[in-house]
Amino acid sequence: MALSAFPFFVRRDRYTILFEVRFRFGRSFEMAGTLFIVATPIGNLEDITLRALRVLKEADLIACEDTRHTRKLLAHYQISKPAVSYHDHNERERSAELIKKLEAGLNIALVSDAGTPLVSDPGFRIVREAIDRSILVVPIPGPSALIAAVSSSGLPTGEFAFFGFLPARRAARKARLKELAGIKSTLVFYEAPHRIKETIADAREAFGDRECVVARELTKLHEEFVRSSLSELELPEGTARGEIVLLIGPPLQGQLRQPAAEQISSISEAIEGLISAEGLDQKNALKRIARERGISKSDAYRMIIAERRRSK
Ligand code: SAM
Repeated sequence: MALSAFPFFVRRDRYTILFEVRFRFGRSFEMAGTLFIVATPIGNLEDITLRALRVLKEADLIACEDTRHTRKLLAHYQISKPAVSYHDHNERERSAELIKKLEAGLNIALVSDAGTPLVSDPGFRIVREAIDRSILVVPIPGPSALIAAVSSSGLPTGEFAFFGFLPARRAARKARLKELAGIKSTLVFYEAPHRIKETIADAREAFGDRECVVARELTKLHEEFVRSSLSELELPEGTARGEIVLLIGPPLQGQLRQPAAEQISSISEAIEGLISAEGLDQKNALKRIARERGISKSDAYRMIIAERRRSK
């Protein structure tokens, strides 16, 4: 290895120093840059790590989902660096260009508009291509709406599964939710505010009743967690705006008994059974049965009236 190469290494990130020199047959040596996957704030500009700031300052180039958006963050931290766009619509060409630059020795930081790149955000192509070419890919971890929501939801976190955005079309969304109904972990989705009510109704249909949490505007001024069940969730007015993570808890215990209970009794019988077995009053028995069957209290009440009419 040429000794003259050393000063060049030490100016770079310590991972670069450790790993970046690659020997290839037929060449003396070749140095590639590093691709840093840098997490940025999801609302509150203070949520950025010291390491992320250093990597952004030291990178030769910043690849951004939207350069105008990222420039605001960079300006806030007085970072002045060349930036290029890397988004869903230019991922193929831009990826090829950036890989050439990495192979030529440039260090590139990839950021998305908010949170962790590749988590429902662009970046997959360049990461795969970099790995295929033995270019070092280094994560700079930090915010993600997914982890922020999971950590404070109050739902079981020992196992959780993330599915990004559900399909926007209702039929496809219902089909997808049905596919997920057998999973016994907390389920996490990103959802658009104008679809949240419909999605909750579809989830109730697919899963029956479960605990659910709507985590909105995390880290921002109007941060809010609405914790309820799918059948009882009432979303405040402002929920039609802002950014949302929807979390749905694992199946409730009662739900596992649901098919048997449905077979053996009508809803009125189930309520009467609960009153005599557990001494609940009418109102609480109705509430419990509605929850176990994944329907609202008013639906349960309507069903009782219909059953009474039929039995006359
Ligand atoms: N890569 C990002 C991350 O790591 O969180 C997610 C990008 S995805 C395109 C954007 C979606 O993430 C939003 O539509 C919303 O569902 C969720 N999201 C992003 N920021 C949020 C926030 N501050 N509060 C709640 N949800 C958020």
